[in-house]
Amino acid sequence: MLSTTSIVVAIIAIVFGSLFTPLNLNNTFISQQSIHIPHVFAKKILLVTAHPDDEAMFFAPTITALTSRPKSDGISLFHVCLSTGDADGLGATRKEELQKSLDLLGLGKRNRWILDNPKLKDNITASWDPEIVASAISSYVRGLRIDTILTFDDSGVSQHPNHVSIPAGAQLLIENLSRTAAPGTSVPRLYSLVTSSLPTKYISLLAVPLAKVDIYSFNFFQKWEELILQAVTHYFPDLLTPPEGAPKRYPKHPEASIRPVFVSGFPQFLQATTAMTTHESQMVWFRWLYILFSRYMWVNIWTPVII
Ligand SMILES: [Zn+2]
Repeated sequence: MLSTTSIVVAIIAIVFGSLFTPLNLNNTFISQQSIHIPHVFAKKILLVTAHPDDEAMFFAPTITALTSRPKSDGISLFHVCLSTGDADGLGATRKEELQKSLDLLGLGKRNRWILDNPKLKDNITASWDPEIVASAISSYVRGLRIDTILTFDDSGVSQHPNHVSIPAGAQLLIENLSRTAAPGTSVPRLYSLVTSSLPTKYISLLAVPLAKVDIYSFNFFQKWEELILQAVTHYFPDLLTPPEGAPKRYPKHPEASIRPVFVSGFPQFLQATTAMTTHESQMVWFRWLYILFSRYMWVNIWTPVII
């Protein structure tokens, strides 16, 4: 019989052991569409945030994973922050803090912009007009030929109305682009950062092994699915063949999953923590509690927004 102590020691060892290496699932945001459509991979990605510090507080696992990929992958990450965070008159300071934070997260100076639009002011009691958000990011999406937009979901992690306004604006832009796109051209896809339920938002280190178990389980069951399909195709070749005249359906991309997941290792967590501390004007005591307990310092889960 295993003693309680040995079980506790084993759990602690697994939790800490899981912290050392990062692990990603579908880190190129492959769509589950046909493998014959070339634009299902993310190559030009635009992250849209609301305030200086959002990038380090909420999106660091994704930024550090994407900026550390080899250049030969051909993936570019761009970032637009829609306000200077001027609610307390600290806009100029916060702009500088954001630059330092992005330097630490590995995002090049040519790939980032911070807007100062009078209609997109940092305000915890005001929503932003989706039309204004759409028009603010439109030139970046068009000019950079963005294929994948990343931002908050409609809960905005913290329910901040500025965060919550962005996905509606991005969605509106994509709808507008779809209407005007020439036949055969693609429009960007939108992914939103999943807001976790309150009990799981502050589970800190535990988020890492839980997310990793999820990723390993997904990979395991996907392998099983492949094996079963191979066996069925071999022994019952007619079963999976579409009837005569039925539209031919291409297989899903084998690496695709619905939810891209980025799990940081300890070095990426330290990178995110250092980036957080560059936002000196915001580093009140409870920010340290946030760093210690928030799952977003370790794990980002994305979901595609169907438009
Ligand atoms: Zn924010």
